[in-house]
Amino acid sequence: MNIIINSIDYKGSIAEGPGIRTVLFLQGCDQRCEGCHNAKTWDTDKGKPVQIIDLANEIRQNTVNANLTISGGEPLMQVPAILELLNLLNDFNVALYTGCELEEVPKELLQRLDYIKVGKYDKEKHCTTIDYIGSTNQRFIDLRRGR
Ligand code: SF4
Repeated sequence: MNIIINSIDYKGSIAEGPGIRTVLFLQGCDQRCEGCHNAKTWDTDKGKPVQIIDLANEIRQNTVNANLTISGGEPLMQVPAILELLNLLNDFNVALYTGCELEEVPKELLQRLDYIKVGKYDKEKHCTTIDYIGSTNQRFIDLRRGR
């Protein structure tokens, strides 16, 4: 199976979840948030299709640690591909950034995640003081609590 990617940040980000994290930006987003910081990921005709096994191997070879954030774009447009990728990276700590609400995320995927950021970006509620979110209507949730 292929997954359509936009880019991968192997330098390590401290803005997309706890610790230093490799960030995988997937291609395609139907949320169309006004003021989106990453509109180049919207178009589903663009991006690069890659074999999931090749992507998993590349991430293992290049990541600074086993912390991965999956962003976009809208990752929920590629759930089967993400599940296959995470099966190959089952020792990784994984965060996912979606514009959807928590109730819209498939349970099968939620069970595999450590953190999730939910909610569309709202430029009227832009926020720079709360970690890991872009606007105050969004939530960054630690899914490991209560497991
Ligand atoms: S969900 Fe993210 S990538 Fe998609 S439009 Fe909103 S801010 Fe941009």
